[in-house]
Amino acid sequence: MKVLSTTTQQDDHFLISDYDYKSTNIEKNGDKYIAKPQITNFKFKTDTRIPKLGVMLVGWGGNNGTTLTGGILANKFNITWNSRRGTHQPNFYGSLTQSSVIKIGTCNTEEVFVPFKDVLPMVNPCDIVFGGWDISSLNLADAMGRAQVVDYDLQQKLRPYLEKLVPLPSIYYPDFIAANQGDRADNVIPGNNKLEHLNIIRKNIADFKQQNNLDKVILLWTANTERFCVEDPNVHGTAEKLMKSIESSHPEISASTIFACAACLEGCSFINGSPQNTIVPGVIELAEKAGVFVAGDDFKTGQTKFKTCLVEYLVGAGIKPKAIISYNHLGNNDGKNLSQESCFKSKERSKKTCVDDILESNKVLYPTEEELNIDHTIVIKYCPETGDSKKAMDEYIAEIFLGGRQTFAVYNVCEDSLLAAPLIMDLLLLCELFERIQFSKDSTEFQRFDTVLSWLSYLMKAPKSESGITTINALSRQRAMLENLVKVCAGLTVDDNLRLEVRYG
Ligand code: NAD
Repeated sequence: MKVLSTTTQQDDHFLISDYDYKSTNIEKNGDKYIAKPQITNFKFKTDTRIPKLGVMLVGWGGNNGTTLTGGILANKFNITWNSRRGTHQPNFYGSLTQSSVIKIGTCNTEEVFVPFKDVLPMVNPCDIVFGGWDISSLNLADAMGRAQVVDYDLQQKLRPYLEKLVPLPSIYYPDFIAANQGDRADNVIPGNNKLEHLNIIRKNIADFKQQNNLDKVILLWTANTERFCVEDPNVHGTAEKLMKSIESSHPEISASTIFACAACLEGCSFINGSPQNTIVPGVIELAEKAGVFVAGDDFKTGQTKFKTCLVEYLVGAGIKPKAIISYNHLGNNDGKNLSQESCFKSKERSKKTCVDDILESNKVLYPTEEELNIDHTIVIKYCPETGDSKKAMDEYIAEIFLGGRQTFAVYNVCEDSLLAAPLIMDLLLLCELFERIQFSKDSTEFQRFDTVLSWLSYLMKAPKSESGITTINALSRQRAMLENLVKVCAGLTVDDNLRLEVRYG
């Protein structure tokens, strides 16, 4: 695609687009709103050189880690396999960047769509070099067998590639994950000195980068859900306090926070795919200093994605959700870990907050704080027989016209890791892309996006935002935000869906 416009310039290294952002400033005057439309000029500068990207997964030998690595290798080497349904070709279904499309304009009256990945230059997922850690020593071929996610024939075909991949020993703080995980922890960095642990992880990252001749590395936590650490401003509040707490091996420093710190100190962005409070203020300060991003929390895959879509539809239609009752049962190792109350609590928190902004936006339906407090109940049960095919059963009860009720009972079978793996890939590819984008507001100097990369909220169950920026959970708004950002950077027009060019030529 080539954009011919007076508002974009391109040379060998950079694509610069000029964008007049239209917004409306609202002033309150008693019970009246005064709306003042305004235009702010932004310039976006995208480095179009694609780097050699390395990714280090924490929890590499888990269901997500093995499914992602194997799935990408299947695509890279075009490995086909057989199941009782016939012969399968590898694909990237479920990936926003690889398998969804964006409307770029109209040709006569026909709308033209292109793959998301083709709007701006992005890393090809098949070129990513993978590495990582796990507290279990199984190589990735055996770990994939343990996960019971991928068809047996594909497991066999991937074995020669995966058996060479062995996770590095990891940090294991048993107090943070379920006690039932202890039996797989045979690949653990010894000792209790958290500073030594941090330094070993830092060295692992530096070695991985150097040995694979990488331009950049991103770290992503896809290990077990930890309990929340008891956050204390004196322990986690600033980069300095956090480093001191690591030096003194403070008990409320989690393994995931050590990985986040190591990433920042090695100049790598860090993504938290689980719900716990890994990204404490001290981590954000370290990331800020290093000029890298942090993003989190918790992958938004099946049930929550649907919830933020359905509730957005109801509230958008002027219908008032009054109760959401969610039952989940799953039989994979994630479910086993979540069967411990402390870890379940982390998941419950991130699942519960996901509709807050959608309800809060509508003061017609929810005029008081009390009414916002709907029945939102989360139940998660571990049932080994279910394996990775998580069952989510949700009842949505909403109030309609004249006191009537509309009830949805939704039964959702999520092949958990097959949904998560493409999403993890998107997080990595988009994070890498955003490292190459800078913006300038009203002709000021170019700067990078904020350290907490809330642009990725479409992919996160409990999106973390910069302080002072409200979190958006509504799925269509999150997607539009991402789509419009890449379009603006490419110099394309943002779509307001009026379709005037189709209606009136
Ligand atoms: P999993 O239990 O199969 O994998 C986690 C891996 O992490 C295991 O191999 C375990 O040995 C390893 N591990 C535990 N502590 C570690 C440590 N300190 N260092 C290194 N490795 C460690 O789980 P999964 O299904 O792959 O899910 C991973 C995470 O993603 C979970 O926290 C889960 O809640 C989260 N998540 C998954 C989905 C999904 O749809 N699959 C959605 C949202 C969030």
